[in-house]
Amino acid sequence: MVETFETDVVVVGCGISGLAAAVSAQEHGAKVRVLERAPREERGGNTRYTESYWRMKSENEVSDDFTERFAENAGGHLDPEVIKDASGPYEGWPRLLKSLGFADPELVATFAELAGPTLRWLTGFGVKFDFLPNYFIIQSTTRMAPVGGGLALVEALAAHAESVPDDIAIHYETTMTSLLQDEDGRIAGIRAVVEDNRPVEFRAKAVVLASGGFEGNPEMLSHYLGTDALWLRPVARGGYYNRGEGIRTALDLGAAPAGDFGSFHAQPVDPRSGQAEPVVLSYSYGLLVNKRARRFIDEAPGMVDATYEAVTREIMHQPEGIAYAIHDGRMEDVPNWRKAVRSDQPPVEAHSIEALAEALELDPHELAETVEAFNAACAGEAGFDAMKLDGLATAGLEPNKSNWARPLDKPPFLAWPIIAANCFTFGGVKVNARAQVLNMDGEVIPGLYAAGEVMGIYYRTYTGSTSVMRGAVFGRQAGIDAAMRHARANQP
Ligand SMILES: Cc1cc2nc3c(=O)[nH]c(=O)nc-3n(C[C@H](O)[C@H](O)[C@H](O)COP(=O)(O)OP(=O)(O)OC[C@H]3O[C@@H](n4cnc5c(N)ncnc54)[C@H](O)[C@@H]3O)c2cc1C
Repeated sequence: MVETFETDVVVVGCGISGLAAAVSAQEHGAKVRVLERAPREERGGNTRYTESYWRMKSENEVSDDFTERFAENAGGHLDPEVIKDASGPYEGWPRLLKSLGFADPELVATFAELAGPTLRWLTGFGVKFDFLPNYFIIQSTTRMAPVGGGLALVEALAAHAESVPDDIAIHYETTMTSLLQDEDGRIAGIRAVVEDNRPVEFRAKAVVLASGGFEGNPEMLSHYLGTDALWLRPVARGGYYNRGEGIRTALDLGAAPAGDFGSFHAQPVDPRSGQAEPVVLSYSYGLLVNKRARRFIDEAPGMVDATYEAVTREIMHQPEGIAYAIHDGRMEDVPNWRKAVRSDQPPVEAHSIEALAEALELDPHELAETVEAFNAACAGEAGFDAMKLDGLATAGLEPNKSNWARPLDKPPFLAWPIIAANCFTFGGVKVNARAQVLNMDGEVIPGLYAAGEVMGIYYRTYTGSTSVMRGAVFGRQAGIDAAMRHARANQP
């Protein structure tokens, strides 16, 4: 006999979206069971490791550019005829439109509207938010963060869960494998495995999928991102736990896909470092070369916080998925530049470009030629301003560098190797503003919710500092709706 648990709401995952769902469902009267693949001391997935910046301008309001950035990155080249109907009330949308893979205005508006209330809800568990320092020397938007980062969110919500053991139980080292559906098409629970691959079942009135993306699953990465995904690794340990079962089982059951399946949030990191998020974001003031010692991209097309993702994705496509950030002694003119490098490994350092190349195992002649050509294309020092887009560009190079282009000729020369790290994947399932999962025909799959990385909302460029917010906002929505609609429906 398979061991079976009965409850109102099952939540798969113990990061921000899972815990927000579990606690809000409990607050609205449901009994909840949370599944977590990791052991207790590593609970929390990606959320555990993030500093958790929120794209907010105050505790009440999202940043001024929030909606605009989502609109710019709503999909590929969207069909205006199909999208026309999206300007009317959601209830009137054709089913086709509801199921379409794009960041729809209904979802984005709800996201923006509920961000403030959700942040304030979290402060009720003792979390404090502030404008905390980050690794960007200059930035294009406003960001707040919880003091103590994502770990503080996990600990605060898990502490609440543990304080109500009759209402919320967390099952560690328990991995969801598939969904249960009854003959009416309603979701009836999930199957999971525990130690020794022993199957268990959780029967429930609603299921919230909050199990992250597929950044920890090489088969899905290669399938959706292509063979260069070999060079990727999760940006922190939590990503290894996210292996895509939530997304895959929902798709198998007919959920509509949403989010850019071929893409992911890329971060430039030092491959020599084993710590969480060892980013190297100084490169916009220097040069990037690949293993052949050649430049391959404009290092400074805009502010680094808005452009590093695209640059990093190109690094993944270079030979062996690696590049090198090259700097010279002029870096000391950039205020606080060291805060842009989070690697615990020292830079490779030399007194000539040729010696630097040798230390990096690059061809010294190639690197010398690349740097000479770059230096010759620079206009000089005049007009350099590290604190704004200064337009100091190279001329006649392919590719040109658009800002902060000064000759690299002042020893010592420094370099960091950089690879693309996968912060999280973009592909997921389509949800409505209540976090209910929609099927391919735009209908709700009764009893099925998704939040956080499992829900697809990002295309092209990630609207930075919105993924923890997404988990909190839609996790909380899922918990409330699951409790009100399913768990309490039969109660007096
Ligand atoms: C180092 C780092 C820095 C980041 N910085 C930011 C930032 O500043 N701002 C921002 O908005 N975002 C940031 N992100 C991204 C953000 O942290 C995540 O996208 C977000 O926290 C994801 O929340 P989640 O609840 O969807 O998933 P997670 O927090 O990853 O939680 C998923 C949970 O599901 C569990 N799980 C997975 N599969 C199963 C299964 N089959 N059965 C049971 N359990 C399962 C996992 O163990 C985990 O507990 C960062 C991420 C990292 C790693």
